Amino acid sequence: MFGVSGEVYAGERVSVDYKEILFLWYMNGRSIEYPNIAGYWTYEYNLDYRQMIEKLLDLRYLTLSAPEFALSKKKMPELKRILSGRGFSNSGKKEELIRRIIENLSAHEIKQICREKFFVATEAGEDIIKENEHIIYFHKNKSKFRFSSLENVVKLKRSNPKMTISELEIILKDEQEKEKERLRQETLNGYKKYGVVKRYAYLAALDKHTCSKCGNLDGKVFDVDKAVPGVNYPPMCDDCRCTTTAHFDRNDEEDDDELERIARDPETGKNYYVPIGTTWRKWIKEVSE
Ligand SMILES: [Zn+2]
Repeated sequence: MFGVSGEVYAGERVSVDYKEILFLWYMNGRSIEYPNIAGYWTYEYNLDYRQMIEKLLDLRYLTLSAPEFALSKKKMPELKRILSGRGFSNSGKKEELIRRIIENLSAHEIKQICREKFFVATEAGEDIIKENEHIIYFHKNKSKFRFSSLENVVKLKRSNPKMTISELEIILKDEQEKEKERLRQETLNGYKKYGVVKRYAYLAALDKHTCSKCGNLDGKVFDVDKAVPGVNYPPMCDDCRCTTTAHFDRNDEEDDDELERIARDPETGKNYYVPIGTTWRKWIKEVSE
């Protein structure tokens, strides 16, 4: 598959798996000297990144940048300084400044000011990234789809190559809901199984998106054998994110001072902690004042 020159023939590509594709996208544009590779490549994706970089370079999906590439990584003040220091105009957008530098400076001069090297995707590498944008999309939105895996995304797309990202998203959302539903059922079965948990407490999110139907049940305690989904057990609404916890009557209420639960600030969207006794009814009154 290699030509005499060692180049990969166009159209003959060695296939790489989805982790390798993701890693190619991730490495595209990273500094060689300070790549700052995130830990999850090792502990979550199980990649030996040194080996992977070598492989992608060998396959010519990744290469080292030409000196000009470093210009795109420079900030505006530096680009302006380079131009004005040589008597050229320094006005215009970033791309214009870069073009002006390339057009007016010698290759040697450019090499001098662009010492930092970067990994960049080759044309074949860019094609792979473009063809697999669904993998990249779901990797970026991992937290939204925590009940499904990237393997699943790859499989779905492979069995139906024409599927768009939004169509994939609909299927995954549906899977998420089914999985959430399964977990809720499993929780309830778990409560019932040993007869230890007699009662459960309903938990709605302290969040402005929680509807009042769910919110009003927050903190209420029900008998396990009287749990009815849609009445006193989630899901209560179409977009239900509610959960439950086992409830035990406690004589000692003192500990409650130290327990907290998470709420989401309606304005900033950031999480913060409130005392455990804060129900949704109390919370929504406080935040809407
Ligand atoms: Zn709910």
